[in-house]
Amino acid sequence: GDVLLDVRGLCVEFPAADGRVVQAVRGVSFTVGRGKILGIVGESGSGKSVTSYALLRLLSAPGRVSAGSAVFDGVDLLGVPERSMRRIRGRRIGMIFQNPVGSLNPVLTVGYQMVEAIRTHRDIDRRTAVEISDRVFRDVGFADPAHVMKQYPFRLSGGQNQRVMIAMTMAIEPELLLADEPTTALDVTTQAQVLDQLRRVRDEHGTSIVIISHDIGLIGEISDDVVVMYAGEVCESGPTEQVLREPRHPYTQALLESVPRPETGVTSLLRSIPGELPDPAQESTGCPFAPRCTSAMDVCRTHRPQPLTVSPAWTAACHLYTEERTEATRR
Ligand code: SF4
Ligand code: MG
Repeated sequence: GDVLLDVRGLCVEFPAADGRVVQAVRGVSFTVGRGKILGIVGESGSGKSVTSYALLRLLSAPGRVSAGSAVFDGVDLLGVPERSMRRIRGRRIGMIFQNPVGSLNPVLTVGYQMVEAIRTHRDIDRRTAVEISDRVFRDVGFADPAHVMKQYPFRLSGGQNQRVMIAMTMAIEPELLLADEPTTALDVTTQAQVLDQLRRVRDEHGTSIVIISHDIGLIGEISDDVVVMYAGEVCESGPTEQVLREPRHPYTQALLESVPRPETGVTSLLRSIPGELPDPAQESTGCPFAPRCTSAMDVCRTHRPQPLTVSPAWTAACHLYTEERTEATRR
Protein backbone atom coordinates (compact mmCIF):
# COMPACT_ATOMS: atom_id res chain seq x y z
CA GLY A 1 0.00 0.00 0.00
CA ASP A 2 1.06 3.60 0.22
CA VAL A 3 1.68 3.48 3.98
CA LEU A 4 5.27 2.60 4.88
CA LEU A 5 5.07 2.98 8.67
CA ASP A 6 1.93 2.65 10.77
CA VAL A 7 2.32 3.52 14.44
CA ARG A 8 -0.69 2.67 16.67
CA GLY A 9 -1.20 3.50 20.33
CA LEU A 10 2.47 3.71 21.22
CA CYS A 11 3.11 4.04 24.97
CA VAL A 12 6.54 4.40 26.55
CA GLU A 13 7.18 4.41 30.27
CA PHE A 14 10.20 4.99 32.45
CA PRO A 15 9.92 3.38 35.88
CA ALA A 16 11.61 5.67 38.40
CA ALA A 17 13.56 4.50 41.45
CA ASP A 18 10.90 5.76 43.87
CA GLY A 19 8.30 3.45 42.36
CA ARG A 20 6.60 6.11 40.26
CA VAL A 21 6.28 5.53 36.55
CA VAL A 22 6.93 8.32 34.09
CA GLN A 23 4.60 8.03 31.09
CA ALA A 24 6.76 9.67 28.43
CA VAL A 25 4.62 8.71 25.44
CA ARG A 26 0.87 8.09 25.81
CA GLY A 27 -0.99 6.38 23.00
CA VAL A 28 0.70 8.01 20.02
CA SER A 29 -0.57 7.05 16.55
CA PHE A 30 0.49 8.24 13.10
CA THR A 31 1.29 6.92 9.64
CA VAL A 32 4.09 7.73 7.23
CA GLY A 33 3.23 7.43 3.54
CA ARG A 34 5.73 6.12 1.01
CA GLY A 35 7.75 8.99 -0.38
CA LYS A 36 6.20 11.39 2.14
CA ILE A 37 7.80 13.68 4.68
CA LEU A 38 6.18 13.62 8.12
CA GLY A 39 7.06 16.32 10.62
CA ILE A 40 6.75 15.74 14.36
CA VAL A 41 6.74 19.02 16.22
CA GLY A 42 6.58 19.96 19.90
CA GLU A 43 8.61 21.45 22.70
CA SER A 44 11.56 19.58 24.13
CA GLY A 45 10.19 17.05 26.60
CA SER A 46 7.05 16.41 24.54
CA GLY A 47 8.08 12.84 23.74
CA LYS A 48 9.21 13.33 20.12
CA SER A 49 12.69 11.87 20.53
CA VAL A 50 11.49 9.11 22.86
CA THR A 51 9.00 8.11 20.16
CA SER A 52 11.75 7.78 17.56
CA TYR A 53 14.03 5.85 19.92
CA ALA A 54 11.15 3.52 20.75
CA LEU A 55 10.48 2.81 17.05
CA LEU A 56 14.11 1.86 16.56
CA ARG A 57 14.14 -0.13 19.81
CA LEU A 58 16.97 2.03 21.08
CA LEU A 59 15.35 3.14 24.35
CA SER A 60 17.83 3.08 27.17
CA ALA A 61 16.86 0.97 30.19
CA PRO A 62 14.67 1.08 32.20
CA GLY A 63 12.60 2.82 29.50
CA ARG A 64 10.23 0.43 27.78
CA VAL A 65 7.38 0.27 25.31
CA SER A 66 4.33 -0.69 27.37
CA ALA A 67 1.77 -0.79 24.54
CA GLY A 68 1.30 -0.24 20.84
CA SER A 69 2.58 -1.39 17.48
CA ALA A 70 4.74 0.07 14.72
CA VAL A 71 4.29 -1.77 11.45
CA PHE A 72 7.03 -1.02 8.95
CA ASP A 73 6.39 -2.53 5.50
CA GLY A 74 4.37 -5.35 7.07
CA VAL A 75 6.71 -6.01 10.01
CA ASP A 76 5.99 -4.89 13.59
CA LEU A 77 9.24 -3.26 14.64
CA LEU A 78 8.25 -3.62 18.28
CA GLY A 79 7.75 -7.40 18.00
CA VAL A 80 10.54 -8.74 15.75
CA PRO A 81 13.62 -10.46 17.23
CA GLU A 82 16.60 -8.16 17.86
CA ARG A 83 18.53 -9.98 15.13
CA SER A 84 15.95 -8.90 12.49
CA MET A 85 15.87 -5.42 13.95
CA ARG A 86 19.61 -5.11 13.44
CA ARG A 87 19.10 -5.77 9.73
CA ILE A 88 16.44 -3.09 9.51
CA ARG A 89 18.21 -0.43 11.56
CA GLY A 90 20.77 1.46 9.52
CA ARG A 91 20.04 -0.32 6.23
CA ARG A 92 16.27 0.08 5.80
CA ILE A 93 15.70 2.77 8.39
CA GLY A 94 18.41 5.40 8.50
CA MET A 95 18.90 7.64 11.51
CA ILE A 96 20.19 11.14 11.93
CA PHE A 97 20.42 12.22 15.54
CA GLN A 98 20.79 15.53 17.25
CA ASN A 99 24.34 14.95 18.45
CA PRO A 100 26.53 13.77 15.58
CA VAL A 101 29.83 13.69 17.43
CA GLY A 102 28.88 10.70 19.59
CA SER A 103 28.00 8.72 16.46
CA LEU A 104 31.44 8.96 14.82
CA ASN A 105 34.58 7.12 15.89
CA PRO A 106 37.18 9.69 16.99
CA VAL A 107 40.24 7.65 15.96
CA LEU A 108 39.22 6.90 12.37
CA THR A 109 39.10 9.33 9.47
CA VAL A 110 35.75 10.48 8.20
CA GLY A 111 36.41 8.95 4.78
CA TYR A 112 37.30 5.54 6.24
CA GLN A 113 34.12 5.49 8.34
CA MET A 114 32.04 6.61 5.41
CA VAL A 115 33.31 3.89 3.07
CA GLU A 116 32.97 1.22 5.77
CA ALA A 117 29.40 2.30 6.58
CA ILE A 118 28.40 2.15 2.93
CA ARG A 119 30.02 -1.24 2.40
CA THR A 120 28.46 -2.72 5.57
CA HIS A 121 25.02 -2.02 4.19
CA ARG A 122 25.43 -2.12 0.42
CA ASP A 123 27.03 -4.82 -1.68
CA ILE A 124 29.53 -2.67 -3.60
CA ASP A 125 33.30 -2.42 -4.03
CA ARG A 126 35.52 0.11 -2.34
CA ARG A 127 35.97 2.26 -5.44
CA THR A 128 32.24 2.66 -5.95
CA ALA A 129 31.85 3.45 -2.24
CA VAL A 130 34.46 6.20 -2.57
CA GLU A 131 32.63 7.62 -5.59
CA ILE A 132 29.34 7.60 -3.69
CA SER A 133 31.04 9.30 -0.73
CA ASP A 134 32.40 11.99 -2.97
CA ARG A 135 28.96 12.67 -4.43
CA VAL A 136 27.02 12.74 -1.15
CA PHE A 137 29.65 14.94 0.51
CA ARG A 138 29.19 17.43 -2.31
CA ASP A 139 25.42 17.14 -1.89
CA VAL A 140 25.61 18.23 1.74
CA GLY A 141 27.74 21.21 0.82
CA PHE A 142 31.39 20.14 1.11
CA ALA A 143 33.23 21.77 -1.80
CA ASP A 144 36.30 19.57 -1.32
CA PRO A 145 35.18 16.03 -0.37
CA ALA A 146 38.69 14.55 -0.68
CA HIS A 147 39.92 16.95 1.98
CA VAL A 148 37.05 16.20 4.35
CA MET A 149 37.52 12.45 3.96
CA LYS A 150 41.09 12.74 5.29
CA GLN A 151 39.97 14.49 8.49
CA TYR A 152 39.32 13.05 11.94
CA PRO A 153 35.93 14.02 13.42
CA PHE A 154 37.51 16.27 16.10
CA ARG A 155 39.05 18.42 13.36
CA LEU A 156 35.57 19.29 12.09
CA SER A 157 32.97 21.59 13.62
CA GLY A 158 29.67 20.28 15.02
CA GLY A 159 27.89 21.41 11.88
CA GLN A 160 30.41 19.69 9.64
CA ASN A 161 30.09 16.48 11.64
CA GLN A 162 26.32 16.67 11.30
CA ARG A 163 26.68 17.00 7.53
CA VAL A 164 29.01 13.97 7.54
CA MET A 165 26.35 11.96 9.42
CA ILE A 166 23.66 13.07 7.00
CA ALA A 167 25.84 12.19 4.00
CA MET A 168 26.56 8.77 5.52
CA THR A 169 22.87 8.04 6.03
CA MET A 170 22.00 9.21 2.53
CA ALA A 171 24.72 7.08 0.95
CA ILE A 172 23.06 3.96 2.37
CA GLU A 173 19.75 4.91 0.71
CA PRO A 174 17.32 3.68 3.38
CA GLU A 175 13.57 3.43 2.70
CA LEU A 176 12.81 5.48 5.78
CA LEU A 177 14.91 8.23 7.28
CA LEU A 178 14.39 9.30 10.88
CA ALA A 179 15.91 12.69 11.54
CA ASP A 180 15.79 14.12 15.07
CA GLU A 181 16.52 17.88 15.10
CA PRO A 182 18.95 17.34 12.20
CA THR A 183 19.64 21.02 11.62
CA THR A 184 19.42 22.45 15.14
CA ALA A 185 23.21 22.68 15.52
CA LEU A 186 23.72 24.26 12.10
CA ASP A 187 23.92 27.86 10.91
CA VAL A 188 21.10 29.18 8.74
CA THR A 189 22.85 28.63 5.39
CA THR A 190 23.85 25.06 6.17
CA GLN A 191 20.38 24.44 7.57
CA ALA A 192 18.80 25.41 4.27
CA GLN A 193 21.28 23.23 2.38
CA VAL A 194 20.48 20.21 4.52
CA LEU A 195 16.72 20.68 4.15
CA ASP A 196 17.13 20.98 0.37
CA GLN A 197 19.13 17.80 0.41
CA LEU A 198 16.53 15.89 2.42
CA ARG A 199 13.87 17.02 -0.02
CA ARG A 200 16.03 15.90 -2.93
CA VAL A 201 16.54 12.45 -1.39
CA ARG A 202 12.78 12.10 -1.16
CA ASP A 203 12.17 13.37 -4.70
CA GLU A 204 14.90 11.30 -6.34
CA HIS A 205 14.74 8.06 -4.34
CA GLY A 206 11.20 8.12 -2.95
CA THR A 207 12.61 7.91 0.57
CA SER A 208 10.07 8.47 3.33
CA ILE A 209 11.27 10.87 6.00
CA VAL A 210 10.24 11.52 9.59
CA ILE A 211 11.69 14.81 10.72
CA ILE A 212 11.47 15.78 14.37
CA SER A 213 11.84 19.42 15.39
CA HIS A 214 10.81 22.01 17.96
CA ASP A 215 10.65 24.50 15.07
CA ILE A 216 7.19 24.61 13.51
CA GLY A 217 8.47 26.98 10.80
CA LEU A 218 10.94 24.35 9.62
CA ILE A 219 8.30 21.61 9.78
CA GLY A 220 5.94 23.81 7.77
CA GLU A 221 8.58 24.30 5.13
CA ILE A 222 9.50 20.69 4.57
CA SER A 223 6.74 18.29 5.63
CA ASP A 224 3.68 16.93 3.81
CA ASP A 225 1.99 15.86 7.03
CA VAL A 226 2.42 17.02 10.59
CA VAL A 227 2.00 15.52 14.06
CA VAL A 228 1.90 18.02 16.91
CA MET A 229 2.91 16.51 20.25
CA TYR A 230 2.35 17.82 23.72
CA ALA A 231 3.26 16.06 26.98
CA GLY A 232 3.65 12.68 25.30
CA GLU A 233 0.41 12.86 23.33
CA VAL A 234 -0.66 13.83 19.84
CA CYS A 235 -2.81 16.93 20.15
CA GLU A 236 -3.28 17.55 16.44
CA SER A 237 -2.26 15.82 13.21
CA GLY A 238 -3.02 16.11 9.52
CA PRO A 239 -1.85 17.54 6.19
CA THR A 240 0.71 20.24 7.02
CA GLU A 241 -0.74 22.87 4.72
CA GLN A 242 -4.24 22.62 6.20
CA VAL A 243 -3.19 22.22 9.82
CA LEU A 244 -0.83 25.19 9.73
CA ARG A 245 -3.26 27.37 7.81
CA GLU A 246 -6.20 26.72 10.12
CA PRO A 247 -4.87 25.09 13.28
CA ARG A 248 -7.65 23.73 15.50
CA HIS A 249 -5.77 22.88 18.68
CA PRO A 250 -4.84 25.85 20.92
CA TYR A 251 -1.34 24.42 21.35
CA THR A 252 -0.75 24.32 17.58
CA GLN A 253 -2.04 27.89 17.44
CA ALA A 254 0.33 28.93 20.23
CA LEU A 255 3.28 27.28 18.48
CA LEU A 256 2.48 29.13 15.27
CA GLU A 257 2.05 32.47 17.01
CA SER A 258 5.41 32.01 18.68
CA VAL A 259 7.39 31.37 15.51
CA PRO A 260 10.41 33.61 15.95
CA ARG A 261 10.08 36.86 14.02
CA PRO A 262 13.20 38.89 13.35
CA GLU A 263 11.43 42.20 13.96
CA THR A 264 10.37 41.27 17.49
CA GLY A 265 13.73 39.75 18.36
CA VAL A 266 12.01 36.66 19.81
CA THR A 267 14.45 33.83 19.31
CA SER A 268 13.08 31.16 21.59
CA LEU A 269 9.57 30.02 20.83
CA LEU A 270 9.25 28.29 24.18
CA ARG A 271 9.66 31.50 26.08
CA SER A 272 6.64 33.01 24.42
CA ILE A 273 4.14 30.31 25.48
CA PRO A 274 3.67 30.94 29.19
CA GLY A 275 3.86 28.01 31.57
CA GLU A 276 5.67 24.71 31.52
CA LEU A 277 5.03 21.14 30.41
CA PRO A 278 3.29 19.08 33.10
CA ASP A 279 5.36 16.72 35.24
CA PRO A 280 5.13 13.41 33.33
CA ALA A 281 5.22 11.43 36.60
CA GLN A 282 2.05 13.16 37.75
CA GLU A 283 -1.13 11.41 36.67
CA SER A 284 -3.41 14.05 35.25
CA THR A 285 -7.08 13.54 34.48
CA GLY A 286 -7.84 16.45 32.18
CA CYS A 287 -6.22 17.98 29.14
CA PRO A 288 -2.45 18.16 29.67
CA PHE A 289 -2.39 21.64 28.05
CA ALA A 290 -5.09 23.06 30.35
CA PRO A 291 -2.71 24.92 32.73
CA ARG A 292 -1.32 26.91 29.78
CA CYS A 293 -4.39 27.14 27.58
CA THR A 294 -6.15 30.49 27.27
CA SER A 295 -9.36 28.72 26.12
CA ALA A 296 -9.50 26.22 29.00
CA MET A 297 -12.97 25.36 30.34
CA ASP A 298 -14.07 23.37 33.41
CA VAL A 299 -14.37 20.16 31.43
CA CYS A 300 -10.72 20.53 30.38
CA ARG A 301 -9.54 19.99 33.95
CA THR A 302 -11.62 16.88 34.55
CA HIS A 303 -11.84 15.04 31.22
CA ARG A 304 -9.13 14.09 28.80
CA PRO A 305 -10.03 15.19 25.25
CA GLN A 306 -10.13 12.41 22.66
CA PRO A 307 -8.93 12.88 19.07
CA LEU A 308 -11.76 14.23 16.97
CA THR A 309 -11.89 14.07 13.19
CA VAL A 310 -11.75 17.50 11.57
CA SER A 311 -11.56 16.06 8.05
CA PRO A 312 -10.61 12.52 6.95
CA ALA A 313 -6.85 12.81 7.56
CA TRP A 314 -7.00 15.55 10.20
CA THR A 315 -7.62 15.12 13.94
CA ALA A 316 -7.50 17.40 16.95
CA ALA A 317 -7.85 16.38 20.60
CA CYS A 318 -9.52 19.36 22.23
CA HIS A 319 -12.80 19.89 24.09
CA LEU A 320 -13.54 23.06 22.12
CA TYR A 321 -14.56 20.83 19.24
CA THR A 322 -16.23 18.09 21.27
CA GLU A 323 -18.26 20.88 22.93
CA GLU A 324 -19.18 22.26 19.53
CA ARG A 325 -20.30 18.84 18.43
CA THR A 326 -22.30 18.20 21.60
CA GLU A 327 -24.10 21.50 21.21
CA ALA A 328 -24.82 20.78 17.57
CA THR A 329 -26.38 17.44 18.54
CA ARG A 330 -28.50 19.10 21.24
CA ARG A 331 -29.99 21.59 18.84
FE1 SF4 B 1 -7.44 24.07 25.85
FE2 SF4 B 1 -9.41 22.58 26.80
FE3 SF4 B 1 -8.65 22.30 24.29
FE4 SF4 B 1 -7.09 21.46 26.27
S1 SF4 B 1 -9.09 20.67 25.74
S2 SF4 B 1 -6.47 22.59 24.50
S3 SF4 B 1 -7.46 23.02 27.80
S4 SF4 B 1 -9.57 24.11 25.21
MG1 MG C 1 14.64 15.74 21.55
